[in-house]
Amino acid sequence: KHYTKDDIRQLIQEENVEFLRLQFSDMFGTIKNVEVPISQLEKVLDNKAMFDGSSIEGFVRIEESDMYLFPDLDTFMIFPWATDSHGGKVARLICDIHNVDGEPFVGDPRSNLKRVLKDMEAMGYSNFNLGTEPEFFLFKLDENGNPTTNLNDKGGYFDLAPLDLGENTRREIVLEMEKMGFEVEAAHHEVAPGQHEVDFKYADALEAADNIQTFKLIVKTIARKHGLYATFMPKPVAGINGNGMHVNMSLFTEGKNVFFDENGEEKLSETAYKFLGGILEHAQNYTAITNPTVNSYKRLTPGYEAPVYVAWSGSNRSPMVRVPASRGQSTRLELRSVDPTANPYLAFAAILESGLDGIRRELTPTDSVDQNIYLMDEKERRKAGIRDLPDTLLDAIDHLEEDEIVKGAMGPTMSRTFVDAKRLEYRSFRQQVSQWELDNYLEQY
Ligand code: GLN
Ligand code: MG
Ligand code: MG
Ligand code: MG
Repeated sequence: KHYTKDDIRQLIQEENVEFLRLQFSDMFGTIKNVEVPISQLEKVLDNKAMFDGSSIEGFVRIEESDMYLFPDLDTFMIFPWATDSHGGKVARLICDIHNVDGEPFVGDPRSNLKRVLKDMEAMGYSNFNLGTEPEFFLFKLDENGNPTTNLNDKGGYFDLAPLDLGENTRREIVLEMEKMGFEVEAAHHEVAPGQHEVDFKYADALEAADNIQTFKLIVKTIARKHGLYATFMPKPVAGINGNGMHVNMSLFTEGKNVFFDENGEEKLSETAYKFLGGILEHAQNYTAITNPTVNSYKRLTPGYEAPVYVAWSGSNRSPMVRVPASRGQSTRLELRSVDPTANPYLAFAAILESGLDGIRRELTPTDSVDQNIYLMDEKERRKAGIRDLPDTLLDAIDHLEEDEIVKGAMGPTMSRTFVDAKRLEYRSFRQQVSQWELDNYLEQY
């Protein structure tokens, strides 16, 4: 959808919007927002809304803290649920962050993704289309309204009520999403008890990232309304599947999917194979961005439908990259390692830059793996050229630091801040003593 300033002025009048929420995301993908009364509308539309960037994670030092919010008018949306007692509504605009000198701020993940998309355009592609499959758990709240890890149902994959008690919540999530302009393609109970997935229509990278941020907000809001807590944490409960966020991707030029080739091997184009080559080549190194928390690595373990090895396949579901059966305009690569704690703006920039590097360097992917990798031993995997994904956040960060292409996808400033912050996060985790250690060592030694 495209909105002009006048469209927005008019919608605000007609719908009785009283507050504007100016949203952006910090480096960790956390949504931040400044709410202004509608009296400030003209200032907002003129890119004159300011905020203090020094208190936002991963942003700036105190002495250079003034930042401007540049709203992206096309992201205008009225929240269906946020209405006050006299019917006044709340709308939002997603913003880019600019310095006082007017230039995009290098620590803004959204502006950064735009920069990487320009590199893609310079190579002759017009769109990086992404369809994501975010998964989440619905947990019960305790008497004080705090989240627990008690599951709210015993359902499984595609189960129906009464096993699936989340059904009403999920249905309302879908309805709210539709009111906000999403085209929802499917919503279903996932494999684990209490786990759900909602799939919405693919979009160009920037809009797809905005959509994920909005989606998380909707899910959390509606779950609360139903007395539940929704979490996108990758592995909240040991012993059952975790939350992934599969990313289905394709490159388009002038409305045509360039991954498709009627005459290509498996009907995939040379470009698709090279892009895949880049996705595999840099996989270990962008994992810190696609799986950025200590907990992410508890999900990437064998036996829970999450990938552990860098490999691809046309049929098999266990590898990191799968090529779903559809061809023509829906030809795509599905990256299955990503989890929903990834900052979508950074993750898409890193994935795209890796794929483009594959095209530039004409990389050839390793052979596809059509047997079950989990039944292969280490020697067989080595022989097939299959590498392991990092197994801790620390391992992932070490890999990231070695990769100029992936770091380049964040820019020098943000990659440095990111690495430093994640090292601290890992160190803080390491200083804790877990229940597992007490159970295994306390009485043995
Ligand atoms: N939950 C699984 C994961 O962690 C995916 C399950 C599925 O979608 N088939 O990625
Ligand atoms: Mg799915
Ligand atoms: Mg799924
Ligand atoms: Mg999938």
